[in-house]
Amino acid sequence: MSTAIFSHPDCSKHEMGDWHPESPARLQAIEDQLIASGLATLLVRRDAPLASTEQIERVHQGCALAAVRDALPGPGGYHPIDADTLLNEHSWQAALRAAGAAVAAVDAVIAGEVDNAFCAIRPPGHHARPDSPMGFCLFNNVAIAARHALDEHGLQRVAIVDFDVHHGNGTEEAFSGDERVLMTSFFQHPLYPYSGVHAMGSAPTNMVNIPVPAYTRGEAVRELINAHWLPALNAYRPQMIFISAGFDAHREDDIASLGLVEADYAWITSRIVEIAQTHAQGRIVSCLEGGYNLSALGRSVVAHLRSLAELG
Ligand SMILES: [Zn+2]
Repeated sequence: MSTAIFSHPDCSKHEMGDWHPESPARLQAIEDQLIASGLATLLVRRDAPLASTEQIERVHQGCALAAVRDALPGPGGYHPIDADTLLNEHSWQAALRAAGAAVAAVDAVIAGEVDNAFCAIRPPGHHARPDSPMGFCLFNNVAIAARHALDEHGLQRVAIVDFDVHHGNGTEEAFSGDERVLMTSFFQHPLYPYSGVHAMGSAPTNMVNIPVPAYTRGEAVRELINAHWLPALNAYRPQMIFISAGFDAHREDDIASLGLVEADYAWITSRIVEIAQTHAQGRIVSCLEGGYNLSALGRSVVAHLRSLAELG
């Protein structure tokens, strides 16, 4: 298997203040662990291009682009979008690189240049709504990539697997009721953004949401994945799989209270690889979402990448 990693130095120029957990140090922590693990030399390195406005507008309305592009502060300043989502002077450029990484990864995987790809990007994306940035996220990278695969490459069925500890409300909003997309996720509930739990019978048929209570451990999550995600994914037969790869369900991550460890991320990723090999010619594009304990984040990304590259 050949696995690519897409990133760009611009993704580290966006920052929201020294106090903010979604920091440039996250990408450095990943890079450090890739080097320490020896994995760095086994991956194909690609620089992320800038996404085009047209690519972003497949998911977002003009007002969402304007909320970033037209609100950039001057050097050293911050512009708050909500209580914990801010812009600095580099945020537009970083957001275009993050979405551009995901789009370019789709092109590389579909062209067969690599088997699968991980995008080491920030800002993250899965809370970004079609009409507005939200929750550390500016543009919904994974949704933009999925729409690129559908609209530009003509795929008819893609799956989005979201294992971030938070519900991917923006992704659900972008694709709710769109039968070209199956989204499977688990998330701690109740927890920000307090979405994704539908009354009996009212859930969109293309959303497989598994809310789990605080303190749920990896074994229980694996059982739920076996019972709910895997049958749905096998029945759907996706032609490509996207991953919203957040690592904040790790038990060392204080932003939430789930109990996953590196071995759980390796296991989940291996199940996704199996589904992709069965139905999707192995095609996977994974996009970094959350993960705020720097050590746990770096180690978990290594576990994720080892499974993507089938290095055991
Ligand atoms: Zn998260």
